[in-house]
Amino acid sequence: ERVPVARVVEEAVDRARTVADGKHIELSALHGGDWYIEGSFELLVNAVRNLVDNAIHYSNEGTRVGVGAKLEDERVAIAVTDQGIGLSTEDTERVFERFYRVDPARSRMTGGTGLGLSIVKHIVATHGGEVRVWSRLGQGSTFTILLPQAHADDITPGLAEAARQGILIDSTGDD
Ligand code: ATP
Ligand code: MG
Repeated sequence: ERVPVARVVEEAVDRARTVADGKHIELSALHGGDWYIEGSFELLVNAVRNLVDNAIHYSNEGTRVGVGAKLEDERVAIAVTDQGIGLSTEDTERVFERFYRVDPARSRMTGGTGLGLSIVKHIVATHGGEVRVWSRLGQGSTFTILLPQAHADDITPGLAEAARQGILIDSTGDD
């Protein structure tokens, strides 16, 4: 399935809208281009939704959460930024582990299982991408999903992937 990035962002933000409103968080989406990802619409929405839910969850009332998409070296970057509690350097290295939660005593009250980000990582890896995090304690966080862009002339995802991995030899012979 050839998935439009703009629709993934829109859908994830739509589904998180009610939770954001309940916390008076201004949730906005910016997506500039006509880019596509080869993969599953539902899984990709799920991944972005998990990041947006976290951004809302780990922020105070009245703050802002933004979701944006852009191209970064031929890859699609979907970034979710918050002005929330942030993470220490140590924690940014561990948050993608299954069941890892910062400060369990406090976060137990806020529910959650500590699985969200491990699911995001798994979905993104399945699509040939990766997740990055920037964060500062008390300042906020940006989680970025990087995914290969599907080009209009990609015939099948299998071929595109083979080409990316260099399995298909470039027959034009310029090197
Ligand atoms: P759930 O399974 O319901 O998503 P969770 O939110 O605790 O539970 P993850 O989404 O995997 O689990 O996040 C792991 C931990 O990383 C969280 O418990 C939280 O401490 C921290 N975290 C995740 N996103 C953010 C964020 N945007 N700002 C600050 N801390 C975050
Ligand atoms: Mg979560």
